Amino acid sequence: MSGRVFSVILLPTSECNVACDYCFEHKEPHRLSQALLPLLTKRLLDHLENERIEECEIYWQGGEAMIMGPDWFTHAGEVMDSAAEKRGLQFAHYLQTNLISYSPAWNDVIHGMFNGSIGTSMDYPNVHRKLLRGGAEAYTKLWTQRLREAKAAGIEIGVIAVLHQASLEAGPEDFYRYFTEELGLGDFQVNTPFPGGPAKQHERDFRLDLGELAKFLVGLFDIWMARGYTSGVSLGPFDGLIDHFTGKQARLPCIWKENCSNQFISVDSKGTVAQCDCWVTSYPEYFFGNVFQEPDLTRMLKTSRVRRDFVERPKRLVRDNDCLSCRYLSICHGGCPVRTYSALGTMMAKDPYCEVYKSVFACAEAHGREILRCRHNQIRSSRNT
Ligand code: SF4
Ligand code: SF4
Ligand code: SF4
Repeated sequence: MSGRVFSVILLPTSECNVACDYCFEHKEPHRLSQALLPLLTKRLLDHLENERIEECEIYWQGGEAMIMGPDWFTHAGEVMDSAAEKRGLQFAHYLQTNLISYSPAWNDVIHGMFNGSIGTSMDYPNVHRKLLRGGAEAYTKLWTQRLREAKAAGIEIGVIAVLHQASLEAGPEDFYRYFTEELGLGDFQVNTPFPGGPAKQHERDFRLDLGELAKFLVGLFDIWMARGYTSGVSLGPFDGLIDHFTGKQARLPCIWKENCSNQFISVDSKGTVAQCDCWVTSYPEYFFGNVFQEPDLTRMLKTSRVRRDFVERPKRLVRDNDCLSCRYLSICHGGCPVRTYSALGTMMAKDPYCEVYKSVFACAEAHGREILRCRHNQIRSSRNT
């Protein structure tokens, strides 16, 4: 086996029970049927065997994945895991949910299939995540209540925050305090926004001043290093960057993978295959094919003409952009194709957040150097005593 990881972002529905301003989903009332699960599982397992990959990570997302209900997931987990086991392969399941419909009925499936942990999202301040009736304030209140209930049930929760103009205005100090002190979280991550699909209508609210964004992220990085790094708070993507710059194995977000097309695909409830959830919900011109209509996923991925753009992007960036002369090329690889495509209408350009990334990398590099210097001094002084 190759030791490679293959990850599938699986959208069992694009329906959702809330209404975020920046949502890029086309919320169709369509759900993945239980009858098609064995076929989907077979296609994935055939691909793993063809590529000699032993384990496949399944990231269940939506829409809102919890709309499917806990029984649906219990059944899906059993079908997929037993089929994998028969072929000596394995699925690892992860759940990303807005938490709004969480109830104790979910506890068994979360502690079983999802290993006791889930991911959710919240922004600070929350102005764009809204209930269908009740707006942003009601959303924050209900979500916070669900978070506390899930934590009380022993569920570990990681939170993703999308930065927007009001986050930059609030500043990194308030932002950090909200997640760590007010919510009591030990694991969260910050994401940059991008307008895809219907979210395009709100594009102006999310086009951030890049200098301000860089300043915010560097400020947040410094606060986390001073207070969170040594006290066990995980703050992505900074923790991965510190690992990278201190010579450890780093788990970095997909935007900085060598080539996201090596590791990810997304499949929606109708079987549509594309690079990731952002593409499968927003850009039909970049669909790779349909897993229920085509018998061979490996062949689909190898022969898809539009997928070739993803595969060739890093090479093209090095040839046509200034990434080759960038000292951070080996960690950034030109950034995220969908952030580039949604801003510029082509993916054959470097990520529009380039200058922001450079500031964050430089900050991580400086902190990493300081950590290594302290470690070196400690080793020297322990040898001298
Ligand atoms: S961003 Fe997610 S939680 Fe928000 S409306 Fe869209 S699918 Fe629902
Ligand atoms: S297109 Fe961007 S968000 Fe999607 S998998 Fe690639 S790097 Fe990640
Ligand atoms: S930081 Fe900018 S120049 Fe450097 S590799 Fe990334 S996108 Fe290219």
